[in-house]
Amino acid sequence: MRKIKFLTIKKRAIVVGLLCVLAIGVFCGTYFPIKASATPKPVHTIVIDAGHGGIDGGAVGKVSGIDESHLNLEYAMELKSLCENFGIRVVMTRSDMNGLYSISAPNKKKSEMEKRRQIIESSGADLVVSLHMNSFPLPSARGAQVYYADGNESGKVLAERVGNALHQSIDYAKKTVKVGDYYVLNCTSKAGILVECGFLSNAEEENLLISEKYKENFCYSLLCGILNFYEM
Ligand SMILES: [Zn+2]
Repeated sequence: MRKIKFLTIKKRAIVVGLLCVLAIGVFCGTYFPIKASATPKPVHTIVIDAGHGGIDGGAVGKVSGIDESHLNLEYAMELKSLCENFGIRVVMTRSDMNGLYSISAPNKKKSEMEKRRQIIESSGADLVVSLHMNSFPLPSARGAQVYYADGNESGKVLAERVGNALHQSIDYAKKTVKVGDYYVLNCTSKAGILVECGFLSNAEEENLLISEKYKENFCYSLLCGILNFYEM
C-alpha cells in the first residue's frame, strides 16, 4: 500500500494560489462577463447599387433578351457576398427586382433617384459602387468602363484601382476609367464609382456577362480594386 504524502508548504502555497486565481476568474466572469460578440465590428461600409429595377429594366441582351436590371442585381449580390467575406458591411440600394420609386410618384425616375440618394446618405458608408450593363448601336463596342464624378478625388482613386484590377484580370479589357455625369455619383461626396460591366449589345460579351464564371471573376476583380482602395 502506497503511503499518502502530505503536501509540502511550497506545494500548498501553489495550490492555494491556483484556487485564488480560479475564484477571481469565476467572480470576474460573473460580474464582468466578456461580451459574446467576439467578432470585430466592420471598419468599412459600402453601398452597392444595382442599377434600374421595377418597370425600368435598362438595356436588353441582344441574344438572350435578359434585362440589365436583372444582371445588375446578380452582380450586386455576388459583390455583396465577397465584400462580407472580407468583413466589409454592405448596404444594398435594392435586393430584389422591385423598383425604388414610389408607386404613386408622377415621375418614377426622379423618385427612384431620390431614394438611391437617401439610402446612400443614411448608410454611413465610405464608398459607393453602382453597377450597370451597357448598350450601344455599334455591335462591336465592348469592354468594362469605370466612371467617377468630376472633382471627386477619392472617387477617382477608387476608379483607378478598380480599373487596374479589371484590366489585370479580364483578358481583353482595356483600362477605361473616366469622368461620368451620373446622378448616383453626383448626389454624394463619398468615394463613388459607376461600373458599366460590359455591353449587352455585343453578342459575345453578352454571352460572357450572363455566365456564372465570368460574373464571379468580374466581381472578384471589383473586390480587389476596393480592397486596394481601402489598403486592406
Ligand atoms: Zn444602366
